[in-house]
Amino acid sequence: MEFVLLNGEIIERSDAKIDVEDRGYQFGDGVYEVIRVYNGSMFTSEEHLARFRKSAEAIGIKLNFTIEEISAFLNQLIEKNNVVLGTVYLQITRGTSPRNHAFPSPGVPTNIVAYTKEVARPVENMKSGVKAMLIEDIRWLRCDIKSLNLLGNLLAKQEAVEAGCFEAIQHRGQTVTEGSSSNILMIKEGKIITHPADNLILNGITKRKLQEICIAAQIPFEERSFTIDEISQADEILLTSTTAEIMPIVEVNGKAVNEGIPGTLTKRLQELFETEIEKQCGELTIKI
Ligand SMILES: *Cc1c(COP(=O)(O)O)cnc(C)c1O
Repeated sequence: MEFVLLNGEIIERSDAKIDVEDRGYQFGDGVYEVIRVYNGSMFTSEEHLARFRKSAEAIGIKLNFTIEEISAFLNQLIEKNNVVLGTVYLQITRGTSPRNHAFPSPGVPTNIVAYTKEVARPVENMKSGVKAMLIEDIRWLRCDIKSLNLLGNLLAKQEAVEAGCFEAIQHRGQTVTEGSSSNILMIKEGKIITHPADNLILNGITKRKLQEICIAAQIPFEERSFTIDEISQADEILLTSTTAEIMPIVEVNGKAVNEGIPGTLTKRLQELFETEIEKQCGELTIKI
């Protein structure tokens, strides 16, 4: 039996019903999070739940549960579903209300749902690296909100996948922004460079964790915008996300990066990141 969270209750998945006029369904009017579970424990859940609240506030949705309550629900869900290695998906919408672009009256309750999934670590791709493709970033100007509106991201991802790539590297004109569901980092002469956490990208928690790790290990980490020309001359390129962790990009637009194999600094970052996971969630059975 599989359980889900629906508006403060943990119920069987087949009993969970959302109305056709849920504003998430009709407008993408809501926000979400994906949190990693290792050894049955959530990784960086405080950061994810803080960002969840921030995204919700940015679009005027007030959470009707505290962060502590949501955290407790998610832990119950993980336990009831016996998730060992996987993810928790959490989303909130502005609720169910007759279709109208303007917000419903403040009394309308939000819809908050969560479910879990078994997800392996993508060890093969982490070891060998993946291909990526440059794609114009056509998204809106509030990419800092983890919104349910993902059409721009989906179109970029689909184009990349159809070209045999794992991820799209989006750019606004000359400026590289981020992936379709990941942050993009380039390495040049031992320094990691990634787009500043402004309105043009989602401020990834994996990337931020990596930044903390780099500061502790005295590895230069710089947040500044960089161009397509710069990334095409990079020594190493990597992407970060909750599910992909730290993944080397070994080819961009058909051109090999670091001769098509993961670079030494990227490999070191992967090791340091695994150590961080183990610090929070205990020993990993499968390692890179
Ligand atoms: C979720 C997401 C990321 C990665 O964020 P993490 O917190 O590391 O999972 C990057 N870019 C976009 C567009 C995202 O939606």
